Amino acid sequence: MVKENYRLIRKEIDETAVKCGRDPKDITLIAVSKTKPLSDIEELISIGVEDFGENKVQELCDKYEKVSKPVRFHQIGHLQTNKVKYVVDKACLIHSVDSVKLAKEIQKEAAKKNVTAEILIEVNVAEEDSKFGLKVNEVVPFVEEISSFNNIHINGLMTIAPFVEDPEENRKYFRILAQLALDIKSKNIDNVNMSVLSMGMTNDYKIAIEEGATMVRVGTAIFGARNYNI
Ligand SMILES: *Cc1c(COP(=O)(O)O)cnc(C)c1O
Repeated sequence: MVKENYRLIRKEIDETAVKCGRDPKDITLIAVSKTKPLSDIEELISIGVEDFGENKVQELCDKYEKVSKPVRFHQIGHLQTNKVKYVVDKACLIHSVDSVKLAKEIQKEAAKKNVTAEILIEVNVAEEDSKFGLKVNEVVPFVEEISSFNNIHINGLMTIAPFVEDPEENRKYFRILAQLALDIKSKNIDNVNMSVLSMGMTNDYKIAIEEGATMVRVGTAIFGARNYNI
C-alpha cells in the first residue's frame, strides 16, 4: 500500500509541477514516517525512496541506526536544545530552527563533531499560537545574526500552514514565505542560501508547489492516518 501511495503522490507532484511550468526534479518529496514502523520505511527504501521526515529526535536516531541502507532523515519537528547533540550529525536537514538559543546549541554541537549543520528557519507565517516558528518580521534580523555561525549553513525557510478544509486558504501564507526568501536572497548575506522552501503537507502540497515549494512533507497520504495512542 505504502509504495502505491508514494508513487501516486509523486505522480501528482510531477503533474502539478508541469502544470505550473516547473521542473518536477526541483521538488523533493519527504515521506513523513513519524510514528510509523521501520517496515514501512523499508518498503519505500526498496523502491528507491531516500528522504524521510521525523518529528522526534529519539525516533529519528532509532530509525537512522536501523535502516538497511543509508537514507536521509529530516528533522521536521520542534527541536529542544537538550536534544541537539543526538541529532546534529544524523539529520540531513533541520527544518525547525526558530531561536538564537537553539542556533547557538546547534553551532556548539556541530563544531564539537566537526560537521556543518544544514538548517532551515521555521516561520510561523499565519501566527498561530499553537505553532513554533519566528514571525515574518523577525526572520531577517535572525538570519543576519546566525549567518556568522561557522558550523551552520542556512538553506532556506520552512512553514507549517494551518489545518484548513480548503487548502486554497493557505496559498497566501505560502506566497508570503516565498517572497520572504526572495527578500533575503536579494541581501546576498554570506553563508546564506535560500534555495529551499519546505512547505506543503498532505492537505495542501499542491498549492504549496504552485507557490514555489521545493520540499513537500507528506505523511498521511503515504502512510495512512497516525495513531498516537499506541
Ligand atoms: C506530521 C508533519 C507533516 C506531515 O503531515 P501530513 O498532514 O500527515 O502530511 C509535515 N510536516 C510536519 C512538520 C509534521 O509534523
